[in-house]
Amino acid sequence: MTSGSRTVLVTGGAGYIASHCIVELLNEGYQVVAVDNFANAVEDPQASGFPESLKRVEQITGKKCIFHKADMNDTQALNAIFQKHEIYCIIHCAALKAVGESVQKPLEYYKSNVGGSINLLMVARNAGVKRFVFSSSATVYGNPQYLPIDEKHPVGVGITNPYGQTKYMVEVILQDLHKSDAAWDIILLRYFNPVGSHESGRIGEDPQGPPNNLMPFVAQVAVGRQPELKVFGSDYDTKDGTGVRDYIHVVDLAKGHVAALKKFEKSFGLKVYNLGTGQGYSVLEMVEAFKKASGRDIQYRKVDRRGGDVPTVYGSAALAEKELNWKCEKGLDDMCRDLWRWQEQNPKGFANK
Ligand code: UDP
Repeated sequence: MTSGSRTVLVTGGAGYIASHCIVELLNEGYQVVAVDNFANAVEDPQASGFPESLKRVEQITGKKCIFHKADMNDTQALNAIFQKHEIYCIIHCAALKAVGESVQKPLEYYKSNVGGSINLLMVARNAGVKRFVFSSSATVYGNPQYLPIDEKHPVGVGITNPYGQTKYMVEVILQDLHKSDAAWDIILLRYFNPVGSHESGRIGEDPQGPPNNLMPFVAQVAVGRQPELKVFGSDYDTKDGTGVRDYIHVVDLAKGHVAALKKFEKSFGLKVYNLGTGQGYSVLEMVEAFKKASGRDIQYRKVDRRGGDVPTVYGSAALAEKELNWKCEKGLDDMCRDLWRWQEQNPKGFANK
């Protein structure tokens, strides 16, 4: 069977990571069935019920993407999707993802991210679909005990918010599922900090409300949507006192998913891979790089540390390189250039007209 005859179900399909994955999947000849509940997405004004992001994905790739509006907790709707399409595997990106909001609304986060995942897995099992990629996060490592973080690093200790807990809990559920039934093939992808956009600038991250993450915030300062960046903490034990993270271009991340799917050609059980660059940059380095890419000034002010933040996080992606034959091709300047292209062309995100 060629990848062209293989249908991948992508949950959270209208979102930032998933929409970039879908571009790469379509480019590789996979068929895509995307599902999203519009919790965080904008509708195409010409086609109600279809997301603007996926309309643009179709324009970028020149290929069609099947879409269903459904919530991960809606068993009936999910059953119908699995009955209608012959699904080869699932990439599960659907989740609520605002760290601060998760502290305010833990029940909503557990219901959506944990409950929704369980429901999806039950529906998939009943349909006999047992190939599953989970969109996890380096947040499961908590406060790093050593650097770079590899996949053997302990998980589940020192996670500081319900969002992170939901990612960890779903990992645990998937581990148990794999132990219970060897027919499952499961890949946990632990993302470091995805940034940037497709190089066309047509799709990108579109936060609702003020961004929580650094780079979307920086980009909004550049277009005047935010007055200034608050740099959270300048007294960390890092190169310039500001927090250090492993920023990964979202297109590299998306290609990591496509590389992961190739593993499904032979049964393997459960595998865990970091998707990162292995390189850490500070907040101030990111600001400087973005200034250079955009030609705009970025006003910033150093303020107190943000609760729950750790000084330095970066990962080793050596295992993904070895076993998935994947590695990052894009660097910091590409991340900033592509993020700027998206932000400049779409200062108000997808709703921009
Ligand atoms: N950060 C910041 N100002 C912001 C948002 C983030 O200084 O408005 C810092 C944050 O303290 C961390 C880094 O930028 O050191 C990355 O934060 P982000 O929220 O993007 O990712 P995460 O905390 O999940 O690694």
